[in-house]
Amino acid sequence: AVVVFGSLNVDSTSYVDAFPAPGETILAHDFRVALGGKGANQAVAAHVAGLPVEFVACVGDDASGAFARETLERLGVPMTAVRLVPDAPTGVAQITVADSGENTVIVTGGANLALTPEMVEAERERVAAAALVLTQGELPVPTIERVAVIAAEFGARFVLNLAPPAPVSAETLRVADPLVLNEHEARAVGIGTDAPSDATLDEWRALAASAAGVVARSIVVTLGGAGAVAADAAGSWAAPAPRVTAVDTTGAGDGFTGTLAAFLAEGRSLPEALRIAVAAGALAVQARGTVDSYAPRDTVLAASSA
Ligand code: ADP
Repeated sequence: AVVVFGSLNVDSTSYVDAFPAPGETILAHDFRVALGGKGANQAVAAHVAGLPVEFVACVGDDASGAFARETLERLGVPMTAVRLVPDAPTGVAQITVADSGENTVIVTGGANLALTPEMVEAERERVAAAALVLTQGELPVPTIERVAVIAAEFGARFVLNLAPPAPVSAETLRVADPLVLNEHEARAVGIGTDAPSDATLDEWRALAASAAGVVARSIVVTLGGAGAVAADAAGSWAAPAPRVTAVDTTGAGDGFTGTLAAFLAEGRSLPEALRIAVAAGALAVQARGTVDSYAPRDTVLAASSA
C-alpha cells in the first residue's frame, strides 16, 4: 500500500474579468468549488493508478470538510485515516482567475496544521504495513520530518514532494527516495540554481545526476511541457513529455507525483515509473479540473508505451 500524509483543501475559484483593487467589490462571471490540497490530489492519483491507498489528513467539522470527504468517497479513496478536527476550519484555497490567465491564491492551512508529529506516531501500524510513504511541503515541517523517521524505522520507501519548498532538515532531504521537485523547487534546494531558464532536458538530467546521493537518495525534477528527469545511484534518465494541447495544467504535478509513487510502490524501477508518470501528467493537462483530470491506470499505461 501507499500511505499519503498530506494536506486536504477545498479550492474555491472565482473567475473575474480583472482583479479587484483594495476596497473594491466586483462581480465574478463564474465560480467553482473542487477538492484540492497536494496530499488529497496525490492520494487520488495513486488510487486511480490502481494501488491501495491510505490517506492520513485532517479536516474541519464544517461544510467544506463534508464536501471534501464526499468527494474522496465518490472517487474511492478510503476515509479511515482522515481525522475530524473540531476546532479548526477545513483547509481552503481562495483562488481568483482573471481573464488575462493570471491568478491569485490565498491558502488558509486550517485543520491541516493540526496534523502533528504525534498524529504521525499514531499511524505507525499503517506505515509498518506500507511499501511506500509519500508526503509534501504543505504539512508542518516537524510533521514531515517525523514521517521520514518513521518510514525509515519500518523500511518503507520515503517519497518527498517538497512543494512548496519547506525548510526541512538536510537529513530529511537525504533520505528521500526520490525527492520530487518542479524546476522552481529544484532551484530552491540548490539543484540547477545557476541553470539558464532554457536549460534542456538533458542538462537537467545531468544536474539531477550530480545531486543524487548528495542532496537526496534519488531525485526527480519535473519540467512542465518538456517532461521530467530522474537520477539515483544506478543512473540517470530523461523522459520527454508528448506534445499535447494543454487545456488545464492545474494538478498535473500532483497527478505526476501520485502516479510515480504508485508505480514505485508496485515495484517498478525509477526510470519505468518516471516514464509512466510523465504520461499521466500529459493526460492530466488535456482535461479540465484537478482530481477529475486523472486518467485511469490502463489509459496511462497505454499512453506510456506509445
Ligand atoms: P508543477 O505543476 O508541479 O509545476 P510541472 O509543470 O513540471 O509541475 O508538470 C508536471 C508534469 O506534468 C510534467 O513533468 C509533465 O509530465 C506534465 N505536464 C505539465 N505540463 C505539460 C504540458 N504542457 N504538456 C505535456 N505534459 C505536461
